[in-house]
Amino acid sequence: MATGKAAKKRMINQHCSVCKKDFDMEVVDGDESNDVIWLKCPGCEGFLPYMTEEKEEAGADASAEPFELAPEDLDSEEREHAKEYEESDEYDVDDVIYHRSWNDYGKVIAKEELPGHRKTIIVNFVNQGKIRLLEGVT
Ligand SMILES: [Zn+2]
Repeated sequence: MATGKAAKKRMINQHCSVCKKDFDMEVVDGDESNDVIWLKCPGCEGFLPYMTEEKEEAGADASAEPFELAPEDLDSEEREHAKEYEESDEYDVDDVIYHRSWNDYGKVIAKEELPGHRKTIIVNFVNQGKIRLLEGVT
């Protein structure tokens, strides 16, 4: 079906909790030596990790503690100074981010570096909840 297959793209079907739908998602990076495979959701254009099964019980994700962000936790001044999310930018914990695709504000609650020097931020969005996003993508 597909024509012009210059790069070998892999697709994995996964549920997106943001879109609340299943999609065939493009694998962002085919480096199979990493434990984490990143998928790009075609619906919301968010990145979500696909965990390989063997590492499922590692329990190393200690930084991902439940944390609820209420809309009133971001005052108008914080929203005004929110940084628009760009995957090429880098952010600090407590930065307020505006995600244009989702029209949603969130606060960075943690930063993580994954294998392969892949940097991520965990952002607690007012509407979308806690979402992991890439940062510093070159
Ligand atoms: Zn989605």
